[in-house]
Amino acid sequence: MNDVTNSKLKKLKQYAFDKDSTLKFIEFLMQKTEVIAPQNKGQASYSYEIVKDAKDVVLDYPRTIQPLKKFFLPPVEDLLAFDLNANTYQEEKIEAKDKIFFGIHNYELEGIKRLDYSFKKGNPESNYLTRREKSMFIGISYEPDSYHFSESVGIPADKIDGFCLFFDKISNKSDYMVFVVDENGQKLIDSFGKVNEVKSKAEITAKKFQNKVKLHYNRIPQVFDHVYKSKVWDKVAERCVGCGTCNLLCATCYCFDVRDEIEINAKDGKRTRFWDGCMLNTFAEVAGGENFREKLNQRTRHRLYRKFKYITDHSGELHCIGCGRCSKYCPADISIVEIINSLIDDYTTQQKKN
Ligand code: SF4
Ligand code: SF4
Repeated sequence: MNDVTNSKLKKLKQYAFDKDSTLKFIEFLMQKTEVIAPQNKGQASYSYEIVKDAKDVVLDYPRTIQPLKKFFLPPVEDLLAFDLNANTYQEEKIEAKDKIFFGIHNYELEGIKRLDYSFKKGNPESNYLTRREKSMFIGISYEPDSYHFSESVGIPADKIDGFCLFFDKISNKSDYMVFVVDENGQKLIDSFGKVNEVKSKAEITAKKFQNKVKLHYNRIPQVFDHVYKSKVWDKVAERCVGCGTCNLLCATCYCFDVRDEIEINAKDGKRTRFWDGCMLNTFAEVAGGENFREKLNQRTRHRLYRKFKYITDHSGELHCIGCGRCSKYCPADISIVEIINSLIDDYTTQQKKN
C-alpha cells in the first residue's frame, strides 16, 4: 500500500464540505450500508457505534474509550458448538458484511493494520479476516491532547493511506477539506454528487503533539535491546494494580482465552473466545498453578516489549499507535510515554558508561 503523506497529497482530488454537506453525506452513506462512527457516551466520553441518526455522529472528539478492534475481534465470541455423544461439532459461520467506518483518526486505522499483520501471520485467523473483508474507512483529523503521541511512533497527522476519504478540518470552522485517497472514495463522492472539487491544492494541517518520546521511533527497538534488566520495571510495578485496563483498551492488543462449557445435560457444549490481557495475574498461569510472569514488573515489561520489540522485530513496525488510551484510563496514572522516556534515560546512561 502506498504511503500517502503531504508530499503526495497535492496530487489527490479535494472537495470542500461544510457542516450541512457533511451531515447529508453521512445520511447518504447510511442509505448504502451500515455506518459506524464516534458518538457521545455519557458526559465526556466517546464510543464507536452503529449510526442510527446522522446527527448523533461526533466529528470533534479526542478518542473513543474502546478502539475499533471490537468490531473485528468481539470481546466475547462463540467459536463452535459441539455434541459429545455424537462426537461432532459445528463452527459458527461469520459472513463478510459491507461496513463504512466514518470519522476515524489516522492512528486508529494504523491499529487495524497492526492487527491485520498479527492475524494474517502464521495460521490466519479467519473470523477476524472475514469481518475485515468489506470494511471501508473514512478518516478525520484531530487535535492531539496531552495523551496522544502518535507522531512519536511514526504516525504524523498527514498519514492517510488506507482510508478511502479523509476529512481535514479547516481552522476553527465546521468545514472540511476532503481528500480522495483511493478509487472507492472517488466512487462515493461521485455518487453523492453534492460537492464541488476544489482546484487549489491544500495540505493536511500539521498538528502539535505535547506528548513526545524523546528519541526517534526508529531507535526505540534498539533501546529495548538494553533495558530488560532496568530498574524502571520495578518502579512502574510499585504503582500498577494489575487491572489489565491498558490491555483491554489497547488498539493493538489481541490476546484471548478460549473456554469450553458443557450444558447441564452433559452432552451439548460450546467453545467461546474471550479477550484476555498479559497484565492480568492469571494470564501466564499454567497447569499445576505455576505462573511464569507472576510479578507486576515482569508483566509490565512483557507488555512494553510486545509493543516495541518482539513483534516489531518481525513486522518492522512499532505495535503501539500512540493513541494514549492506556495512560488516560490507567487507574494508577501510569504513562506509557513516561515509561519509554525513563527507559531511554537508562539506556543513555548505560551508553555513556561504556
Ligand atoms: S491500566 Fe495501569 S494499573 Fe492497570 S494494569 Fe495497566 S498499567 Fe497497571
Ligand atoms: S500501548 Fe497504549 S498508547 Fe500504545 S496503542 Fe496500546 S493503548 Fe494506545
